[in-house]
Amino acid sequence: TMILFAARLTILHINDTHGHAWAWSETNNPNIGGFAAIATIVEEVRKEVEALNGHVLFLHAGDMNTGVPESDMLDAAPDIVAFNMMRLDAMVLGNHEFDKPKEVLAKQMKLAKFPMLSANFHDPEGIVKPQPYVIKDFGDLKVAIIGLTTEETAILEPLHLRGATFANCVETTKKLVEELKDKVDIVVVLAHLGWGPEGEGKTTSKQLAQLVDGIHVIVDGHSHTKFEEAQAVNGVIVVQAWEWGKYVGRLDLEIENGKIVSHTWRPIPVNLKIHKGKDAQGKDIYEFVDKPYEEHFYVKTVLDYFKQLGDEQLNTVIGKTHILLDGERANVRSKSTNLANMICDAMLWKVNADVALMNGGGIRASIKPGDITVRDVLTVLPFGNTLYVLKMTGEQLMKVLEYAATVKEGQGAFLQVGGLTWRSVDGKVVEAKVKGEPIDPNRVYVVVTNNYLAGGGDGYTMLKDPAGYDTGFRLDSVLVEFIQAVLKGEIKDYDASLRYVRE
Ligand code: ATP
Ligand code: ZN
Repeated sequence: TMILFAARLTILHINDTHGHAWAWSETNNPNIGGFAAIATIVEEVRKEVEALNGHVLFLHAGDMNTGVPESDMLDAAPDIVAFNMMRLDAMVLGNHEFDKPKEVLAKQMKLAKFPMLSANFHDPEGIVKPQPYVIKDFGDLKVAIIGLTTEETAILEPLHLRGATFANCVETTKKLVEELKDKVDIVVVLAHLGWGPEGEGKTTSKQLAQLVDGIHVIVDGHSHTKFEEAQAVNGVIVVQAWEWGKYVGRLDLEIENGKIVSHTWRPIPVNLKIHKGKDAQGKDIYEFVDKPYEEHFYVKTVLDYFKQLGDEQLNTVIGKTHILLDGERANVRSKSTNLANMICDAMLWKVNADVALMNGGGIRASIKPGDITVRDVLTVLPFGNTLYVLKMTGEQLMKVLEYAATVKEGQGAFLQVGGLTWRSVDGKVVEAKVKGEPIDPNRVYVVVTNNYLAGGGDGYTMLKDPAGYDTGFRLDSVLVEFIQAVLKGEIKDYDASLRYVRE
């Protein structure tokens, strides 16, 4: 058959960057990632592809917010400015774009020179008004990019939505594909949905590919999945680039007569290294996976400036610990740890409550032995949560524990407590004591929790009912105060006893 037109399209993509604008170090892997290195990659690929008369799209599949203090404290302005410089074509709203009030997101959307898409989002207050899709017209090729935000955002982010809703992704996409199919050659879905696992009330990218015809490519995010190759589902190419900008995904498409005739995908590791042992002088030797990328001068200069703004405040030493304060994800979502206990004790202390309730998923990092800085505390507690005080009867408190006993280990909803010890057998509460006394169903207890749980987050809907108030005290500041005032700035040891025992 005659080829009416042929075109090349290269899609570069990142997802779930969570504030990782600057290169960072991990044990045995110094200087990973960072947007300045990614800018170099984007520039190189643009040059290469455009020299062959191809087109480049650079996309972000959502969750730029929350995770690195220097970014969080500036509401991700550094990230957005870097994306502007890199000429990002589009981003989709991820669930974490709702970690702060909608007014903050509206401000971010104004600063961005790229659209932040979401076709299934509706805000009756009209504060956040994302475009559903954008059409890129390259002359010989028209590409539609549809944005989709996971429906589970409604459950994951109960605090700031204030009536905003997420429509079913399958229905939404079917309608849009119908509308767009005659107007464009290629339909890309920029999906903050996740490759898996499947569950009630949400659509995964795999399910979307299975259930909707007419999509060519799904650029996915949310599940932080480390794809090593593109997935093909029902003729749809699905890709995702791990997390934090450690990978840039690169999808090369050849298109003839509106059909993709060939595709290749590979992840580009962003200065990831392998530890190769030590040299004769005992110095560590590292080897790059792929090749090293230099940081883009202008992007780095701007990002360094932003970093300086916060450094002085964040580097303030607030104390010292002789032991590891354990906030390891798998641990704080399955048992008491010294750090989880300390956070709950700090909450109790601040408002003089009987019981403290905290979601393990809200504790996001450990603190290593040595000086403790404000940055360390903000890395552990990045959400800017506030303390919420509730008056609850013993009966109401038991309802909380009955639910908590059913939460699976590994889920963010795993309950950490202060002032309380309890036990469950096969998902049923068998013992619960406050200050050593069994909970009295008729007594009224002062319970402190965070505003996330008080808003019904992590399935704790029963915490929405009791009378209470938001103290406005930030949890991270309360922990700083507790370390300084109560622990006198020095931690030699801390209670790591199991306050909750499950059998
Ligand atoms: P993704 O980054 O892909 O959206 P995630 O990092 O949110 O995923 P998890 O690492 O499983 O996913 O964390 C989810 C958990 O984080 C929730 O179950 C909850 O415990 C905690 N969490 C999320 N948002 C908040 C918040 N605003 N305040 C307190 N805790 C939160
Ligand atoms: Zn997400």
